Amino acid sequence: MSNPEGETTLLPCPFCGSTHVRAIEIDIAMWAVVCNPCQTIGPAASEKADATALWNRRAPG
Ligand SMILES: [Zn+2]
Repeated sequence: MSNPEGETTLLPCPFCGSTHVRAIEIDIAMWAVVCNPCQTIGPAASEKADATALWNRRAPG
């Protein structure tokens, strides 16, 4: 499923279970998914889609 912005749906945070997670550009050409409540930072990647995929792969379920 994709939203109007074409972003992949992110799985909930594996640590706190929050769905308040989002992919941000943490550095130049360096993306990672960050959880707002617990500040967990997911695996970084050079592309937003890759960072999203890595996050979803790590998240349980
Ligand atoms: Zn969290």
